[in-house]
Amino acid sequence: MTSDFFEQLGKAVGDTNVLTGDAVHADYTHDETLGLGPVVPLTVVLPGSTGEVAEVLCIATEHGVPVVVRGSGTGLSGAARPVAGAILLAFDRMNRIREIDTDNQVAVVEPGVTLEQLNGELAPYGLVYPVSPGEQSASLGGNVGTNAGGMRAVRYGVTRHHVLGLEVVLADGTVMRTGGKFVKSSTGYDLTQLLIGSEGTLAVTTEVIVKLHPRLTETATVLAPFATLPEVTKAVPRIVASGVEPTILEYADALVMSSITKAAGLDLGIPESVQQAALAYLVVVLEQSSVARLDEDVEQLGTLLGDLGALDVYVLPPHAGSSLITARERLFFVTKASGADDIIDAVIPRAAIPDYLAAVAELAASHGAFVSGCGHVGDGNVHLAVFQPDAQARHELNRAIFRTAIEAGGTISGEHGIGTSKMSYFVESADPALLSLMHAIKAAFDPGGILGPGRMPGPADHLETAHS
Ligand SMILES: Cc1cc2nc3c(=O)[nH]c(=O)nc-3n(C[C@H](O)[C@H](O)[C@H](O)COP(=O)(O)OP(=O)(O)OC[C@H]3O[C@@H](n4cnc5c(N)ncnc54)[C@H](O)[C@@H]3O)c2cc1C
Repeated sequence: MTSDFFEQLGKAVGDTNVLTGDAVHADYTHDETLGLGPVVPLTVVLPGSTGEVAEVLCIATEHGVPVVVRGSGTGLSGAARPVAGAILLAFDRMNRIREIDTDNQVAVVEPGVTLEQLNGELAPYGLVYPVSPGEQSASLGGNVGTNAGGMRAVRYGVTRHHVLGLEVVLADGTVMRTGGKFVKSSTGYDLTQLLIGSEGTLAVTTEVIVKLHPRLTETATVLAPFATLPEVTKAVPRIVASGVEPTILEYADALVMSSITKAAGLDLGIPESVQQAALAYLVVVLEQSSVARLDEDVEQLGTLLGDLGALDVYVLPPHAGSSLITARERLFFVTKASGADDIIDAVIPRAAIPDYLAAVAELAASHGAFVSGCGHVGDGNVHLAVFQPDAQARHELNRAIFRTAIEAGGTISGEHGIGTSKMSYFVESADPALLSLMHAIKAAFDPGGILGPGRMPGPADHLETAHS
């Protein structure tokens, strides 16, 4: 690349914000996807304003240099992993909360603001941004990029249910606004929704307007061990239909439960005999604005869980309850440390989960693999840790699992995204009419194809998969 290119970048964002060589910290070379090695980009560029983002994109377009956008790099699909020869556009400097508007219950934030930061600022106002992917260091820009979900989606929905408007910069440097501080609009195509989940392939987000909720102060965590996994998964639709509105409704198989409690040094006080008999657990968090309403919900849920065959029902002491949820959020790192080769997050209609998990167990056995599971069962989003070190065998197994999910009426990813790691599965299973429309949308937003090369839904010759 010519020195002119770097000079232009330096002028746009300041020389100290254009990193090359040893100045590129290892964190910038990967996201958290298992099995994808580090890639050093041509340069890491750290813009400080929307105007600077626009200038960087103009320079990239002029020189035909691809751009990979990065938030906090906690993604699980390889979408923020750099490409050699590309600019990695990182938002470490654009991390200001521009406004907390209590009357309209919205926050206006820059893309580098993290979930932890936003919720910390919102607490004194009695407000919360409830979308909660397990990693609180994730950025709002990244959440929009992946349409992040997380444990609270069963009650509150996912990122796309909370983003009211965006400011974005197109590949040619045009700054564009969508939506606003309002909750409804029937005014042309909804480009806000199109951009959410587009994984940095259509435009670069420079501002996000999000909807906020009142912070509910009373919480109870209920743990229900079951003798069999099908009993757990069959209980889920009944709990959702009961009207108790769980904030979190997770399942964990016995192995996952024992690994997370062990890793966190957590004793939940469950008798040994019950632990021995339990093959799976439901974890239900209830939240309410008053103790009386919470107690009513806990009682109703306890009775229901008993009727549904729970071996027992435990209302955990507050500290144990929050520690269990934190331990569940750290599960990814426990799974990684135990040598998992992949994590997949297909989503299916929740009533199809029992048959789906039975089919997964058979597929794992027939592919010589071990698969453990847990996840956001309330919204049909089961996370599977796949232990199969042979890349080809794992690829075949993943493919069979995704096919099973699709046949059950589901799809490949509920929240982690397609990125680079699931691209081959997506392309081979998607409706050709849908793919062709996606190509046309990509070409309309980014005719030079500089944003997120190899990511959804780039031309076939750009595909970079976990297997290459
Ligand atoms: C321990 C752990 C637990 C997790 N649990 C969950 C979970 O429960 N639910 C869930 O949904 N996810 C979960 N994740 C995945 C991850 O946290 C989410 O995908 C999150 O949305 C990524 O945010 P990020 O800021 O790290 O984005 P990155 O990984 O940096 O980027 C993600 C995508 O967004 C794009 N992007 C980033 N910023 C911008 C921008 N400004 N403009 C345009 N595109 C942009 C990137 O190009 C990339 O495509 C978990 C990850 C970990 C490590």
